[in-house]
Amino acid sequence: MHVTRIRFEQFMLKIARTREEEASCDDCARLLAKLVETLLRGDVQDQELQDILHHLQQCSPCSEEFVVLRDCAKMDQEHSWPTLEEMWSKLDYESASPPSA
Ligand SMILES: [Zn+2]
Repeated sequence: MHVTRIRFEQFMLKIARTREEEASCDDCARLLAKLVETLLRGDVQDQELQDILHHLQQCSPCSEEFVVLRDCAKMDQEHSWPTLEEMWSKLDYESASPPSA
């Protein structure tokens, strides 16, 4: 049991170290709009933004926020805002089936 405990502590330490290097939810909230803008323009070169992208892959609340923000920015860019009715039907559709993208 003693060995297992030490391994577990090392494992936790490893996670703690990894977390330190990664973006936090606060970083994410701060940089999300910038990330969306950058993505719409092309590739993300910025290390700081790449960290956020990495965070989004692991954090579902942030990634949900990201998807909403990205969709809004896209519609803004394409001037393709749906009508309120279309939005409602889209919401119904998305809650009925998992999002594909
Ligand atoms: Zn997060």
